[in-house]
Amino acid sequence: MKTEAAVLVELAKPLVMAELEIPTLKPGQALVEIAYSGACGSQVNEVMGLKGEDKWLPHCLGHEGTGTVLETGSSVAKVKAGDKVVLSWIKGSGIEAGGTVYKCGAKTVNAGAVTTFQRHALVSENRLTLVPAGLSMEVAVLLGCAAPTGMGARRCSWQRRSASPRTSSPRTSWRCASWRRASSWQQPSIPPVSAA
Ligand SMILES: [Zn+2]
Repeated sequence: MKTEAAVLVELAKPLVMAELEIPTLKPGQALVEIAYSGACGSQVNEVMGLKGEDKWLPHCLGHEGTGTVLETGSSVAKVKAGDKVVLSWIKGSGIEAGGTVYKCGAKTVNAGAVTTFQRHALVSENRLTLVPAGLSMEVAVLLGCAAPTGMGARRCSWQRRSASPRTSSPRTSWRCASWRRASSWQQPSIPPVSAA
């Protein structure tokens, strides 16, 4: 089976649309048809080469998404074909199956345990969570990175403000904004964000 992906081939250059051959699933992997993908600021830094040398080029990108499980490799117990899932860089329960090497003609393209800038992806079981009941795939994509990162930053910000009321940064403000967006789908269990 083939799929299409936006691949980082060269730093600081536009991503390249490529047709990838999906290999046989490894134990602990699931084949997911991607519905939505977030574009995190960390990917922008990665593409621009701000994270330094990239020994994995060319490689797939994206670490937050939603999709539907099409197939599972052996030993996968957490999800099954047909399940709607959240894809995240954050490790949860289940098998860590490692990365994937896709074939692209005579070349190869690397991918981590979860990637989302593509129509289909092989993903480690431990990067998948069922989409909560009542939540759309479009909104649930925030659970992959923006919401947990925002809530984590919110907690850090809260602690820092307790220590020093003047402590703030644009990065924290951005993350708090993410958290505020995320809070629209679920009542937060922590106090709401005051004006950043
Ligand atoms: Zn992210």
